[in-house]
Amino acid sequence: MKLCMFLDDGRERLGIVAGEEVLDAPAEYPDMRAFIRGGEAALRAARAALPKAARRPLAAVRLAPPIRPATMLCSGSNYRDHNKEKANTPISGKEPEFFVKTADCVIGHDEKIIYDERLTKKLDAETELAIVIGKPGRHIPVERALEHVFGYTIVNDVTARDLQALHGQWFKGKSLDTSCPIGPVVVCRQAIADPGRLSLSMHVNGELRQQANTSSMVFDVAEIIAQLSRGMTLLPGDIIATGTPSGVGLGLTPPVFLQPGDVMLAEIEGIGRLENTVKEHA
Ligand code: MG
Repeated sequence: MKLCMFLDDGRERLGIVAGEEVLDAPAEYPDMRAFIRGGEAALRAARAALPKAARRPLAAVRLAPPIRPATMLCSGSNYRDHNKEKANTPISGKEPEFFVKTADCVIGHDEKIIYDERLTKKLDAETELAIVIGKPGRHIPVERALEHVFGYTIVNDVTARDLQALHGQWFKGKSLDTSCPIGPVVVCRQAIADPGRLSLSMHVNGELRQQANTSSMVFDVAEIIAQLSRGMTLLPGDIIATGTPSGVGLGLTPPVFLQPGDVMLAEIEGIGRLENTVKEHA
């Protein structure tokens, strides 16, 4: 099942994406968190409601971020080929690298990414598979980690490379307003046979920049969950971005960074296409 949040008369509500249509989710599940908390009962109720649910064309709705996390949890340096293009990163660490983005920088599909050259001249894009946590857990064993997944979505981990370097810590360079496009949908884990075998890509202005498969992650989805949950409780609705493959603007020769008007299309097999345009600050 694919779920989205969309604007209905100016209010965000939960929808079920079926083909090229969006159907109303049952009213007792007004948003993604409520649906996640509903567990198997929510999935059953949604399936039962589908035949009579109100529907409208997907192309006609305005999508919102499918979920607004408390904090964006992220794993970095998690693809060997991407680590090779970053001069200062070991090719394969013994432990995963973690950082956060603020929740406030989350935006949805088709929303604009603000470019302000007074702040950064090195804005870059990163396609990433993102895990949506469904079941709380702490010290989650790797062999049970996938049971804690509700589903998957796409994150574009927009990054100001110069601020990353300037502040000696990734937080600010990763957290400028609008720098976390997410969506367009959350796909329930039951619909993804193997999160470790998904192709992913990034096009900028139609030009293919990133193309890889999640099979080339250093730490896979289960290992990331197991490691991050060591001593740190993961909660339903938490999102963990799993790192990006090679092909970012920083890795090109010479490097190429985002400019106003650029269109980014992040795509992951089985999930969808997340498109956002860069806009000059007002
Ligand atoms: Mg990243």
